[in-house]
Amino acid sequence: MDDAIIIGGSFAGLAAALQFGRTLRKATVLDTGSPRNRFASHSHGLFGHDNRTPREILELARQQLATYPHVSLVDARAVHASGTLDDFTVVLGNGESLQARRLLLSYGRTDHLPDLPGFAECWGKTVVPCPYCHGYEIAGQHWGLLYHSPMSLHMPPLYKHWTDRITLFTDGHDLPAEERQALAERGVQIVDGKVSAIRHNGGALSAVELADGRAVEIHTLFAHPPSTPSSDLHQRLGLATSASPIGEIVTVDETQQTSVPGVYAAGDLANPMSSLTVATHAGAMAAIQTQRSLIV
Ligand SMILES: Cc1cc2nc3c(=O)[nH]c(=O)nc-3n(C[C@H](O)[C@H](O)[C@H](O)COP(=O)(O)OP(=O)(O)OC[C@H]3O[C@@H](n4cnc5c(N)ncnc54)[C@H](O)[C@@H]3O)c2cc1C
Repeated sequence: MDDAIIIGGSFAGLAAALQFGRTLRKATVLDTGSPRNRFASHSHGLFGHDNRTPREILELARQQLATYPHVSLVDARAVHASGTLDDFTVVLGNGESLQARRLLLSYGRTDHLPDLPGFAECWGKTVVPCPYCHGYEIAGQHWGLLYHSPMSLHMPPLYKHWTDRITLFTDGHDLPAEERQALAERGVQIVDGKVSAIRHNGGALSAVELADGRAVEIHTLFAHPPSTPSSDLHQRLGLATSASPIGEIVTVDETQQTSVPGVYAAGDLANPMSSLTVATHAGAMAAIQTQRSLIV
């Protein structure tokens, strides 16, 4: 039996695995190889790894983990999880079962990209979600923002820190008059009408096209597609969840412990702030607390 099974072996999961390896705890990491930022040409803001590709960072972590004999990295999907403290079972896609005393869920979230021509081709390159991740390289350029909910209205004041050239595409949504006025006072241009396509060349965006035939040239479009947890295992285990600005997240305390004893969660699954730094911190915290909980 493992001390812990980690479901999801990306930034949060591998950060946890490193702590298990170093504390001589037997851990198995299950992973299907689809980190959320896999579409990004480069990754930014992770200390010591700035401007590497996501794959490079994860491959380096996997190479380093391979030197720890207590950690097993397994390319497999977890399809079922059940049990209680000290006696959890995880079933893999091939039917095999694994047992562990603790579980760490770090399977992240899946972004549901809109069915908008050009969006998927540009996602992670010139259609991006986060100014902290992508803003530095495009400071001073013309930024667009695709409206998706009232949360979108909080973005332009933040973006102003990087650029004065901001266009909000309402995408057919009605904006209250007072919100329009507040945005206009900040120098934000508002373009009404339904967006029909992202014009691009090999992922390099050139303009946002509108259903009425207009095209607005911009450099980069910020967008926040809806996302959901990448698996339903937290539901199968009966974990408490809470609503957040990005949707349902697994509820954890400051030690990353969920509502079910012995089950921990870390990374985007349990935190509305999508960030490699936050995910790796949470993964390490979850593993350290798990390790402590195993001391008799
Ligand atoms: C386009 C884009 C660009 C980004 N750029 C940056 C950036 O530059 N800097 C930054 O700090 N943040 C960035 N982020 C945010 C960052 O990607 C996330 O915060 C981070 O990936 C979260 O790590 P995680 O380990 O929680 O989840 P993920 O990295 O999403 O990993 C989850 C892992 O679990 C696996 N998995 C899923 N289900 C199962 C299952 N049932 N069984 C086994 N394995 C499973 C997946 O294959 C995946 O490998 C970006 C996000 C996006 C969408």
